Amino acid sequence: VAAHGAASAEGASIHTTLYDGRKAPHQLHVLVVGCGMGGLAAAHCLGKAGHKVTLFEAAPAIGEVGAGIQVTPNVSRLLQRWGAGPALEAVAVRPDAIALRRYDTGERVGYTRWTNMEEKYGAPYYHIHRADLHKLLFDLAAPHMTLRLNATVVGVDPDAPSLTLASGEVVRGDLIVGADGVKSLLQEVVLGHTNPAEATGDAAYRAVIPSDLLLEDPELKEFIDVPEMTGWMGPGRHVMAYNVRSKKEYNLVLIHPDDGSVESWTAEGSADKMRADFADYEPRIRKILGFVQSTLKWRLMDRKPLKKWIHPSNRVILLGDACHPMLPYRAQGAAMAIEDGAVLGNLLSRLAHPTQLPTFLQAYEDLRLPRTAETQNQSRLNQKIFHLPDGPEQAQRDADMRKATELELR
Ligand code: FAD
Repeated sequence: VAAHGAASAEGASIHTTLYDGRKAPHQLHVLVVGCGMGGLAAAHCLGKAGHKVTLFEAAPAIGEVGAGIQVTPNVSRLLQRWGAGPALEAVAVRPDAIALRRYDTGERVGYTRWTNMEEKYGAPYYHIHRADLHKLLFDLAAPHMTLRLNATVVGVDPDAPSLTLASGEVVRGDLIVGADGVKSLLQEVVLGHTNPAEATGDAAYRAVIPSDLLLEDPELKEFIDVPEMTGWMGPGRHVMAYNVRSKKEYNLVLIHPDDGSVESWTAEGSADKMRADFADYEPRIRKILGFVQSTLKWRLMDRKPLKKWIHPSNRVILLGDACHPMLPYRAQGAAMAIEDGAVLGNLLSRLAHPTQLPTFLQAYEDLRLPRTAETQNQSRLNQKIFHLPDGPEQAQRDADMRKATELELR
């Protein structure tokens, strides 16, 4: 079983070589669509590489949903290189380990230490609130870009290249980066046909609760005191829980079968329905769920790896969830989007002449597509492993994990 993201850090240095702030001899005007984590990372790296960046965001204000996110060493290393290490350390929590438990008894079957992340991968593993990570990326990008809010892109001319906004305004540039998320319009432009994201069969409840509630209960106190991430694996469902905001808040992600009740992809979920969905889980998690007053509900979508990320005009490319949406079971969706931005900025910092652009874009796709495709597939594999039904396969999984845990603790 993959150590939920940690393994993805391995080998990352091959693809995210040191970005040293080099300025490109030839400047492009890059139009980035989407102010998510991927769009912001791209805006920062392309702007620092000396390109003019305009970022278009449909929403009237920037921000992120009220939930936690894992920042694996492949990303914390980049943030450190970009000078955001101290800001990250100030708002994030460093977990010591991940403990994987059985859903019914709470028995800890799997355990992986995370204290050796710096030694192993050159940077720590963090847990952080999404709004804090988004702000951190925004602060990095802001000096290097012009941000256009309330700017929904409704049309793209890939040859001009230009974007048409909902207001009717047409904006021309030299290169368009589609960082417009899982429902990407730009993806359809690159492929030349519609290719909707696919339902994975899973949905997620998300909630953040005050840590004090757990600290007041002797049975739950250890989830805050001991800085571990805890996962509970059960048939068709799992829970991941960890501390955020200097251990003042406890983040919960509860995966369950998608019952089709979510009309949109994100919606307010019923806390009572959530509790009913996990009624067969061990008493401690049921107690924790008792504290949840409101929850968000997410339909989890992904897509098979695309064959190409570049429009034949060589003027439109894709990045982040727009080209590689994945199940969050390796905690790598935003990580891959941020890595994409780093690699793109690094490559285009070397652009000396416009005729080189197709070669650099091809290099971007060649470096990024295989790595993200593998991560998409691995995330699907974890879905199978975490959700095994009661029976011999599940018993074997637990036995293998117990053995690995014994070695880990030796
Ligand atoms: P998005 O964040 O979707 O941003 C796209 C932006 O584009 C949005 O702001 C949108 O408004 C804008 N936009 C869309 N269309 C248009 C348009 N036409 N015009 C203008 N703007 C437009 N990843 C991790 O790395 N670690 C984790 O621990 C982790 N946990 C997760 C847990 C859950 C439950 C889920 C659902 C996901 C998790 N992920 C995690 C994945 C991660 O959240 C996503 O992969 C990541 O946020 C994608 O970033 P993005 O910038 O590519 O897209």
